[in-house]
Amino acid sequence: MSIETKRLVEPDPPLQPDDLLVITGAGGFIGGNLVRYFRRKGFRRIRAVDKKPLPEWYVREPGVENLCLDLSQEENCRRAVEGAVEVYNLAADMGGMGFIERYRVECLRSILINTHLIEAAWRAGVRRYFFSSSACAYNIQLQQDPNARALKESDAYPAWPERGYGWEKLMSEIFCQEYWAERGLKTFIARFHNVYGPYGTWDGGREKAPAAICRKVIEAIDRNDLRITIWGDGRQTRSFMYIDDCVYGIDRIMHCDQLIATPINLGSSELVSINDLVSIVERIAGVTLKREYDLNAPRGVAGRNSDNTFIKQVLGWEPSTPLEQGLRVTYQWIKEQYEARKQGKRVVE
Ligand code: NAD
Repeated sequence: MSIETKRLVEPDPPLQPDDLLVITGAGGFIGGNLVRYFRRKGFRRIRAVDKKPLPEWYVREPGVENLCLDLSQEENCRRAVEGAVEVYNLAADMGGMGFIERYRVECLRSILINTHLIEAAWRAGVRRYFFSSSACAYNIQLQQDPNARALKESDAYPAWPERGYGWEKLMSEIFCQEYWAERGLKTFIARFHNVYGPYGTWDGGREKAPAAICRKVIEAIDRNDLRITIWGDGRQTRSFMYIDDCVYGIDRIMHCDQLIATPINLGSSELVSINDLVSIVERIAGVTLKREYDLNAPRGVAGRNSDNTFIKQVLGWEPSTPLEQGLRVTYQWIKEQYEARKQGKRVVE
């Protein structure tokens, strides 16, 4: 199924350093890193919004307007987008497989965020609107094998996404497409494939595989008990995108008129098994652990990779930070957090 989204594209005036950018979910991993990215790029007016209390944000950049608002409430969305030129919606109730399989209602309720935010953005005359979708929007029937072929954009239909989380993403994508088709708001939709890096969740139940494995290796070394528990049989395959590629990719996608209302993969195509991922982290840490497999733990689909044909064709670019390189930085950051917490310092997990 494809959605008819053709419309005349009026050119925008060039984006100015004083134009207001609004980033939601900015207390979280990708939103926080995106705030930092645009700040370094020279944008002087950034409004960062999240429902978490400020001390729990990963990134708090000086000179940024930080607002603590629950965006599932319509009036808060109106407040959040006042005066905005561009809106980046990175807010969602989410986590790794353990979270999204256990809390499907919470995940579905994120639909309220995008529904109110896109309406508020359109009413406020926002120029461009970005939505963070996910590879979980893809038909799960195509992901039953660790060697399954990489997913291309058209594989979302016929629709059979991940229960809860994936349906919310697919439905919010449709909102973005129809706001363009019917109301002329320029919307952009990236389907992220697992993102990892510093300033993200690394403990507490919402963390994803790369952070969880880094932490488990650090814990094993610290306890001097060289064992690790792996969820599933370790043969499930994934690709992992380093955060710097993610934020750069968001910027490129948001400013490409060819991609208006057109979902696009934003992910690495370096496919590894979870066992491979553990081996890389072991190499970084300089240890070898005894592996134990928890076959009853959530494991998600058997195989998932990003087909990057489309992004390469449109942007002449794809996320390409080698996994080992990105993991070295991530491991080091998590180790610092772990040690700081052990010394009784306050850290954000
Ligand atoms: P995250 O959990 O670190 O950040 C999300 C932030 O949204 C959190 O800080 C949370 O407090 C905030 N939030 C939740 N509900 C809110 C509400 N009602 N009002 C205001 N803020 C609210 O997650 P992330 O990894 O940074 O993910 C960002 C976006 O990217 C999400 O839409 C997520 O679904 C999507 N995504 C992430 C990945 C990944 O691997 N990290 C993969 C695919 C898609």
